[in-house]
Amino acid sequence: MAKPLKVLFLQSNITHLIMVLFSEDHIQETKRRGRIEVICGSMFSGKTEELIRRLKRAKFARQRVEIFKPAIDTRYSEADVVSHDSSTIASTPIDSSATILLFTSEVDVVGIDEAQFFDAGLVDVCNQLANNGTRVIIAGLDMDFKGNPFGPMPALCAIADEVSKVHAICMKCGQLASFSHRTVKNDKQVLLGETAEYEPLCRVCYQNALIEDEEKG
Ligand SMILES: [Zn+2]
Repeated sequence: MAKPLKVLFLQSNITHLIMVLFSEDHIQETKRRGRIEVICGSMFSGKTEELIRRLKRAKFARQRVEIFKPAIDTRYSEADVVSHDSSTIASTPIDSSATILLFTSEVDVVGIDEAQFFDAGLVDVCNQLANNGTRVIIAGLDMDFKGNPFGPMPALCAIADEVSKVHAICMKCGQLASFSHRTVKNDKQVLLGETAEYEPLCRVCYQNALIEDEEKG
């Protein structure tokens, strides 16, 4: 009987996580106290969709919202944060995290997408904003294609008031996926891509895929 019990426990854990992530708590949208929220996960895990959902709700609540993304990410549109399901929200592409402070003196909520591509200064910028009463919502990849922590994301998770780890579905076995496996041969950490270049995998399938890649050479 040990096995079924373990499965039940896992399922109830997952249900609990989903409930926490999509709780309909309205307090965050209306109270003015500064805070830092991080939405992290692999590629195709719905990070940007969740960021856009929170930002749109803040706008409905008549909050002043400003959204930034790194100028490096021009996969879809120069000025819009666009997710894989094509929901969009206007954003400002910037080169340096310090620029965020120049645009946010009269803002209630700051959204930051693809935060893994920003410089390490983003950590201080987010702390400054939150300490001055701004709600900061950050979305980004927690790991690169090698499974290593990506850019400022681990530090942002550390200083966050709340971290939501979202998951994709493993393309090989259907379990929850946390890893972004690069399906093309290229060793650069930054390779902007889509389903042609990456697939989400669970830990076991990711390890197997790395062994297969090694064998192919
Ligand atoms: Zn798998």
